[in-house]
Amino acid sequence: MLVCLTTQSLKNALIKKRKNHSIGFIPTMGALHEGHLSLIKEAEKANDIVVVSIFVNPTQFDNKEDLKKYPRTLTQDKKLLEQVKCDFVFAPSANDIYKNNIHSSKFTFGGLEHAMEGKFRDGHFDGVGTIVKRLFEIVEPTNAYFGEKDFQQLQIIKKLVASFKIPTNIVGCEIYREEDGLAMSSRNTRLTKTHRAAAPFIYKTLQEAKIRFETESASRVDTWVHEQFEKHVSLDLEYFEIANTNTLKTISRKRKGSKYRGFIAAFAGKIRLIDNIALN
Ligand code: AMP
Repeated sequence: MLVCLTTQSLKNALIKKRKNHSIGFIPTMGALHEGHLSLIKEAEKANDIVVVSIFVNPTQFDNKEDLKKYPRTLTQDKKLLEQVKCDFVFAPSANDIYKNNIHSSKFTFGGLEHAMEGKFRDGHFDGVGTIVKRLFEIVEPTNAYFGEKDFQQLQIIKKLVASFKIPTNIVGCEIYREEDGLAMSSRNTRLTKTHRAAAPFIYKTLQEAKIRFETESASRVDTWVHEQFEKHVSLDLEYFEIANTNTLKTISRKRKGSKYRGFIAAFAGKIRLIDNIALN
């Protein structure tokens, strides 16, 4: 496994391999966990070479404290990556990636960017679009792997490659969970004991919402979810949305033949957690 700390060193290393080899790419912000490793394992199955990037992208954070406190564990991450088939780790600095101009470009993603995370995290998807486009220009992957944990991001990346005609196939991967159902996340390590114990409530509520969605209207399920969080002492709901899987538009009424997902963002103290589920 080769660790590249600059864009130029990664490009130099890949140039020799690129010919006749498929490249599977997994962009991450590090503090790696089993969820990330599940994406890497998917990439191993279908590609000759696996590249993992570790970069805490400053332009996608709307909250300075979240950026400052985001866990950075490169030494431990490298050890984990040695245990799977990872050929190249790309861990650049912000100045290298942004060429000393740390700003995001403006993007439109056909309206996908206005819902949920876009509404509550100002500029977030401009930051995501900027970094993913840049990383794709550097790595030129055959396939790139993204988790359904960030379902809105996954849909936006699909739109990004279509809009810019980027010849990379985007593969969505299932959410990897702790035994108690909590979606794995680098931010989970920052939860207090009490909040960690409370956090599986998010997925439990999504599961119950899915069962209710079979027989109840979208608005009744929505009300029920809000009531559950109002009663909860240590979790604060930021949003619950039932949205069309493709358009991510909030629905007021179910339509036959359409696919829907339920999305939650909630605060456990200062830590913001997100999760989602396919409702039908
Ligand atoms: P992050 O390091 O949080 O930016 O995540 C890097 C990639 O891993 C993104 O595509 C995430 O959606 C994905 N990911 C993070 N957590 C999980 C999880 N629990 N299950 C599946 N994919 C995940």
